[in-house]
Amino acid sequence: MKLRFVLPFLAAAGIVMCQPQSDPAATAVWEPVPPIINPGAPPSDAIVLFDGTDLSEWTGDWNVENGAVTVVAGAGSLTTKRRFGDVQLHIEWRTPSVVEGEGQDRGNSGVFLMELYEVQVLDSYENETYVNGQAGAIYKQHIPLVNPTRPPGVWQSYDIIFMAPRFSADGNVELPATFTVLLNGVLIQNHVTVLGTTVNVGEPVYETHAAKEPIMLQDHSNPVSYRNIWVRELS
Ligand code: MG
Repeated sequence: MKLRFVLPFLAAAGIVMCQPQSDPAATAVWEPVPPIINPGAPPSDAIVLFDGTDLSEWTGDWNVENGAVTVVAGAGSLTTKRRFGDVQLHIEWRTPSVVEGEGQDRGNSGVFLMELYEVQVLDSYENETYVNGQAGAIYKQHIPLVNPTRPPGVWQSYDIIFMAPRFSADGNVELPATFTVLLNGVLIQNHVTVLGTTVNVGEPVYETHAAKEPIMLQDHSNPVSYRNIWVRELS
């Protein structure tokens, strides 16, 4: 649009065109100073949930060996003792190198934020299934943008930014949860809105819950492994 058409419109809308500002210092902000942290893996302000040695941060009985923790079929989920709201979560996962089953029965597990909102873990390397249930899907809600999965038996990583839902005092959703997810460093979920609990059957709906809830890893009967799990609280 040409400027001579835009300017009268802006004037009519009551939008004042500022004079060009000549002093760069007028727009320089000096506070608050961001905290200094060491960016090493993990960052110095992260809570380490699993460093390869023990499950002291968790409730559940999975197998710790060679720096990894592996699902024990039938043992149930692994759940953090601490509770979290808004987080940045790093977690590495590996589906079995010996491929068994197909579709949802191949390397299935899941990373559940607040025990309710699942980022699907699945062997999605040359393994067809419904796309809102493949690796990196917000289960049954959001299809990943791309599929950057590695072959079975190879370590992969999720970097998850999760914003918890906000509920009003009467239990209504004031602000739905959101996910941003990188799989192996590649953006696969870009600030998507969570529609409710990531249920397998039926439409998702929100159930009221606390501002902070545990992180949970799913026992879906497949021996999926995890390692290098750390989390940064965002609020
Ligand atoms: Mg799953």
